[in-house]
Amino acid sequence: MRQITAETVELLDRNDELASFKNEFYVKDDAIYLDGNSLGLLSKRAEQSLFDVLNDWKAHGIDGWMGGKYPWFTLSEQLAEKLSVLVGAEEKEVIVTGSTTVNLHQLVATFFEPKEGRTKILADELTFPSDIYGLQSQLKIKGLNPETELIQVKSKNGLTLDEDDIIEMMTDDIALILLPSVLYRSGQLLDIERLTKEAHKRKIPIGFDLCHSIGALPHELSKWDVDFAFWCNYKYVNAGPGGVGGLYVNKKHFSKTPGLSGWFGSKKETQFDMDHHFDAETSAGGYQIGTPHMLSTAPLIGSLSIFEEAKIERIRSKSLKLTALLMDLLNQELENEFAIVNPLDDKRRGGHVALMHSDAARICKALKDNGIVPDFRAPNIIRLAPVALYNSYEDVFKAIKILSKIMKNREYEKYENKREVIA
Ligand SMILES: *Cc1c(COP(=O)(O)O)cnc(C)c1O
Repeated sequence: MRQITAETVELLDRNDELASFKNEFYVKDDAIYLDGNSLGLLSKRAEQSLFDVLNDWKAHGIDGWMGGKYPWFTLSEQLAEKLSVLVGAEEKEVIVTGSTTVNLHQLVATFFEPKEGRTKILADELTFPSDIYGLQSQLKIKGLNPETELIQVKSKNGLTLDEDDIIEMMTDDIALILLPSVLYRSGQLLDIERLTKEAHKRKIPIGFDLCHSIGALPHELSKWDVDFAFWCNYKYVNAGPGGVGGLYVNKKHFSKTPGLSGWFGSKKETQFDMDHHFDAETSAGGYQIGTPHMLSTAPLIGSLSIFEEAKIERIRSKSLKLTALLMDLLNQELENEFAIVNPLDDKRRGGHVALMHSDAARICKALKDNGIVPDFRAPNIIRLAPVALYNSYEDVFKAIKILSKIMKNREYEKYENKREVIA
């Protein structure tokens, strides 16, 4: 392969249609942020929309619910219209609400309907811990034993899953399937369409946790006929720490009653009748529980307007080029130093590169001290996420040059190989 040089990446940056979006984010001049898969950066538009909502509170008090720049009463629905584009669903099938874990509870409380002989939930052994804790407690609430009723598909290599293995475990006793779209460690993108088709052949409802794919790649949830999905908006969607999440419910399920009901799931017209009969909205909006968190929703207004302009297809295309460049540079500069454990195939790869190394924890510390922000996942994974909206090809080039210097001079050896409290 041809040598990748500073000129190569300069040319890539010059031809990058999304390059101008970088100026819209607070990126430090002396640092390269590659951790947007944990917490996306603040954009000026998100900052402005947060100020706008604060200002409406200041100016209008209670009347901000129906007046002001972005009336709060319908903001979750208004934003769902923009968010639905990112997941490939109809506007009514999406709502901005809750957090990943709360939305999981809401949707599993709705879609897990154990019956005689069909009492198990199928998940996987590599998924994010919070998802497993949620499933365990949902089983307990239904009087079932998580030890026997939660089935976790095994990984052959501890890093990725084989769809064939998952499908093989879709047996007659499974009442619900919950899987991630992209695995948070290895960055493997599962074949959502195929898994959904196979689950439906066996009459099993299936849902996906989109935390690591939302904002990084396009989805076609409606077309694929996925039953439900949920996600956070603070990773690739850049809505800020603890920013309000989202959920999707396939419209064929709109007749269902949400498992966890609350007054913000009411039809808008009747919510303030204060009647004890719950008149649920028959759309994803019905899955809201209590008063929406406006100050943690506000940044999404600005952030989603960026996605609307940038277009998720262009974001995906640049993201794949960034991660491919990162891997090519690793092979060029640091051959065999790291095991690249994310899938290499574009169709199977999410938004980050995952590197395995026995000194991963302290290599991350050395990177940080050299102005590169990576992230570490115990016990031995370094995740590097070059984000299409605010990372350049030059960022990737510089980051790998610095990593290469750290490895060649063994600079990481002066750090303790132990993770921080937050890693
Ligand atoms: C980030 C993440 C979460 C976090 O859940 P919160 O409820 O937002 O704290 C859960 N699941 C996955 C797969 C994640 O990547």
